Amino acid sequence: MNSKEMADKACEKSVEAIVDRAAAGKICYDKSIVSSIIQQVDTEITKNNITENSEISRKHTYGQSLTVAVMITIQDEWEKKNSVYAKFECSKGIMRNYFDLVSKGAAKTKLFTSTMANTLSSAIHSAFDEEVVTRTFKIICNERWLFDARNMHKHMDLHLTDLLEEKRIDQVLDYLRDPKRFYTIVLHRLIAVKIPNVEEEWILFKSQLKDAVKKAALATNGVDKGLAQTFANQLRNEFSEGRLQSDILSSAFSIDCTGEYEECDNEDEKKFQEDCEKELDQAIDSVGSLKCHEEFAKELSPKVVQYMKTLKNQTVLPRCDSYCPCCFSLCIEAVNHNTADRPHDSVHQPSGVVGVRDRHSKELCYTTCSQRYEEDAKIYFGDEDIVGKKFKEFTKEFPGWKDPRIKEDSPLREYILATYNKELAEKYRVKPCPNVPASYFRVLSTIKEQLKMEID
Ligand SMILES: [Zn+2]
Ligand SMILES: [Zn+2]
Repeated sequence: MNSKEMADKACEKSVEAIVDRAAAGKICYDKSIVSSIIQQVDTEITKNNITENSEISRKHTYGQSLTVAVMITIQDEWEKKNSVYAKFECSKGIMRNYFDLVSKGAAKTKLFTSTMANTLSSAIHSAFDEEVVTRTFKIICNERWLFDARNMHKHMDLHLTDLLEEKRIDQVLDYLRDPKRFYTIVLHRLIAVKIPNVEEEWILFKSQLKDAVKKAALATNGVDKGLAQTFANQLRNEFSEGRLQSDILSSAFSIDCTGEYEECDNEDEKKFQEDCEKELDQAIDSVGSLKCHEEFAKELSPKVVQYMKTLKNQTVLPRCDSYCPCCFSLCIEAVNHNTADRPHDSVHQPSGVVGVRDRHSKELCYTTCSQRYEEDAKIYFGDEDIVGKKFKEFTKEFPGWKDPRIKEDSPLREYILATYNKELAEKYRVKPCPNVPASYFRVLSTIKEQLKMEID
C-alpha cells in the first residue's frame, strides 16, 4: 500500500469514527448531526492532504451514506416508541397494514375500521384466555380442595395411589421429596379438569364479541361529530361494562382518535356502521383456531392459579407450599399466610419416606416429627452436623413454624414406608427401617377407597 492509499484508508476510518461518535447518544434525527459530520470530515480530508476533487467528493459521499444508514436506524427506534401509532408498536402487522392502506390512498373509514379490526385480532387470544380463566375460577372457587388443605392432601395422596398402581414407584418417592412441585402438579391437574369445554366457550366468546361490536356501532346513531371516537369509546364501554367484560379488550380499545379520523364524519352514518361491523366481524371469524381442549386446559391451569393469587381472597387460595424442614410434609395454611400470626403447620409424616435415618445405625426412621417432639428427640442434618436440632425447640430452630403437635395418621405415607422400605433405603443409600410398626402395613385398595370417600 503506498502512502496515498494509506492516507486514503486512514481518512475513511476517521470518517467512520466521526459518524459513530456523532450518532452516539442521539435518540432521533436532528439536522445538527449532519452539519457537524460534514465539518469534521472536511477537517479530516485536510489533515490527510487529500486534494483531488474526485477524492474529496468520494469521502463526502462515503460519510453521507454512513450517516444516512445510522440515522435511519436511530429514527426507526425512535418512531417505534414515540410516533402517533406507538400504541401499535407491539404489532408490526398493524403498522404495516396501516401504512399499506395509507400508501394506497384508502378512505379514512377503511383506515379506521382496519385499525380497529387489527387491534381486536391482536388481543383476541389473550382476551379469550382471560375469559376462560375467570370462568374457571368461578367454577372452582367452591371446591373443597381449594380452601381445605387436608382435602387437598387427600387428592395428592389419591394421585400417589394411582402412580403406585401403575408401579411408578420412583416417581412417587421423588414427589414425596419434592412436595412443592408435587403440589403444583396436582393443583394444575385438578383445575384442568374443571376448565369448561374450550370449543363451546370459543363459539360463545365470538358471538359475544360480535354483539359488542354491533352495540357499539348502533351507539353511533345520530352522532354527527367524532364518529370514529364514539365507536371506539362505545366498544371500550362494552368491554368494561357489557356482557363480555374484559380488561384486555377494554384497554386495547382505549384509543385516542384525535386528529386522525375526523374525515369519517363525512361518511354516511349507516355506511360507517356497516363498515365497522363488517370489518370487525371478519376479524373475529378469521382468528385462527385454538388448541384442542386438553392442551389448552393444561396451559391455562397455571394462569388460573396466578389469577387466584392476585385476587387475595383469603378463603379461596391455593395452599402454602412450604414444607416441614424435617419430614417434608406440606404446610396446611393458605398461600402467603402471615407466619407471625399463623405459623406454618403440618400433619407430619413418617420421616423415613423422605430418607430421614438414625444418626448412628443409618436405618430409616418410622417416626413422625410429632412423635419425635413427644420423645424430646433431636434431628441431625448431614454427617457434619454434630449438634443437631431439638424437636422440643422446633419453633426456635425453625422460625416461622409451629411445634409439631398434630397427631393424625397418614395412612398412605405409612403404607409407602412399610411397602417400599427397601426401595427407600436404596434411594437414600441407607439401611431399611427394621421396626416398621404393624399398623403401617395396610392395603392400598382400602386406603384408596377411604381417600375417595373422604374427598367427596
Ligand atoms: Zn415434619
Ligand atoms: Zn405455610
